[in-house]
Amino acid sequence: MADCLFCRIVAGELDSDKVTETERVLAIKDINPGAPTHVLVIPKEHIASAQDLDSGSGDLLGEMFEVMTRVAREAGLTGYRIVTNVGPEAGQSVFHLHFHVLGGRSLAWPPG
Ligand code: 5GP
Ligand code: ZN
Repeated sequence: MADCLFCRIVAGELDSDKVTETERVLAIKDINPGAPTHVLVIPKEHIASAQDLDSGSGDLLGEMFEVMTRVAREAGLTGYRIVTNVGPEAGQSVFHLHFHVLGGRSLAWPPG
């Protein structure tokens, strides 16, 4: 999508601090980190949010979770949080699916 921030990052039109990538997945550092490790794991195809996933998304999700596990391991994290926000009320501000991988400090639960 031409006006989507993460589609533009995936296309290389906007800069990002890349952590790793696979054929279908890109992992970048969050521009405004909420923890010492804060990586966004993004499908290269445009999917608006987790609400748009279904049983046909299994392979993509498996690839995303493999990337998240690798990101956490390479960052040396033993405990970490994976979260995705759905809709503005939950804090979603970029309407292209992404999982946040957060770690490197103790994380309060439940979140605010
Ligand atoms: P959301 O609020 O949708 O769950 O998460 C969007 C995340 O994207 C936020 O944590 C925000 O800091 C991050 N973000 C916003 N713009 C950019 C950008 O241009 N580059 C990167 N790397 N992260 C961004
Ligand atoms: Zn997009």
